[in-house]
Formats: sequence, C-alpha cells, structure tokens
Amino acid sequence: MEIKILLGKLNSFGDINLLWIFLLENFALIILSVLIGFIVEYKNTIYPKNDTKWLVSTLLCNTLVTFVGFKLYILNFIQLSFEKSLTSIVFDLILITLIMDFLMFVFHFYIHKMKWIYEIHKHHHYHIKTNVYSLYVLHPIETFGFGMLWLFTILIVNYNFYSVAIYLVLNLTYGILGHLEKDIFPKFWSTNTLTKWISTTKFHNNHHTNETKNFGFYFTFWDKIFKTYE
Ligand SMILES: [Zn+2]
Ligand SMILES: [Zn+2]
Repeated sequence: MEIKILLGKLNSFGDINLLWIFLLENFALIILSVLIGFIVEYKNTIYPKNDTKWLVSTLLCNTLVTFVGFKLYILNFIQLSFEKSLTSIVFDLILITLIMDFLMFVFHFYIHKMKWIYEIHKHHHYHIKTNVYSLYVLHPIETFGFGMLWLFTILIVNYNFYSVAIYLVLNLTYGILGHLEKDIFPKFWSTNTLTKWISTTKFHNNHHTNETKNFGFYFTFWDKIFKTYE
C-alpha cells in the first residue's frame, strides 16, 4: 500500500490512539538505543536510576512532538513529496541534515552561553562519562526546543518523505554514537580530507568533558568556523 494512504489510515485511529501509538514508537526507539548500547559496550550501559524522571519526560515530549508533526502533515501545513527519485531523496536529505545541524549548533551554543537556560541543559552535562542513556537525559524545555527546531525545519521546505525518514534514522544513530564511550569510527576519520567534516563519538564525548568545545552534532565545520572545535 502507498505510504501516503497508510499515513491517512493512521490518522483515522483518532487522536488518543495516535498518542498511544507514538508513545509506543518512541519507547521502542529508546529500547532499540539501549540494545545497541548493550551490543557495543555492555559494561558501560548502566541504567542511571537518578535520571528516570528525565528519561520519562523525554519520552513524553518526543511523543508530543511526533504527534504535532503528524497532525501538521495531516492538516497540510507540512507538505511532503512521495517521489521515488534518488536525486530528490539525496538532495533533500543533505538539505535537512545541513539545516538541522546549523540550527542545533546555534541552539546548543546559546544554551551554554546564557546562564538561565544553561540551568536547563546542565542535567545533560551531569553525564561527563556518557553512555547510551545520556542521549535521553534532557530537560523537557530542551527536548521541546530541539523538537521545535525539527518542526520548523520540516515546515519551511517541502521535502521528500523518504529523506525525512532516512534523516530520522540517521539522527537517532548519531545521537546513540555520540553518547557511547567506545568510538567505533576508524582512526583515519578525523584527519582524512573527506571524512574529517563528519563528527565522531569522540567529538561529542569531548563536549561532555570540555563544555566550551564541540557544539555541533553531525558535522564538525560549524565548530571549525566558529573556532570551538576540539
Ligand atoms: Zn552541551
Ligand atoms: Zn550529549
């Protein structure tokens, strides 16, 4: 069945059922992240008991952001193309990734510079030594902040649906990789002409040990341009 028709059918479940579906979806993504953590670094994947409230609130916030995004699509505020063209998919994927990385870099940079809002972000930074759970240790205001950047990004341009789906997979993958302790990227990555622009586990790990550096997420060039690269 066409994805467009499937999305329409999903909407017919009604708002309450949709919220439950998105809650389950986001919960499954957390479970998947933890499983990856277990596979890559079993001993380091320790549940941070004191952070349960942040994990639950992040789950609820992500559920709401998914719901709002879906409704914005149903109401035609977010318009997607379902064209199965490789050029369109690749172009839109690059565009979304660049826009999101820049917006998140600016948001993350100011979160650190403005004292009142740093109070919100500091919970994430209690994890100096990170593991996969650290990805979800976020204050609800911060999670909504990132969620708003995402909704804004998909509202301003009509992207290809497949690019949006691939971006979401890549975003989760990068969130997980950035918070593992074990760097799975090969040694040449940070020095090779082609790959040095793409961040690694060490890149975000360094941000957790030195909060004045590495505010970017997927790419290293914003930090290189703004002289905050380590
Ligand atoms: Zn930070
Ligand atoms: Zn982090």
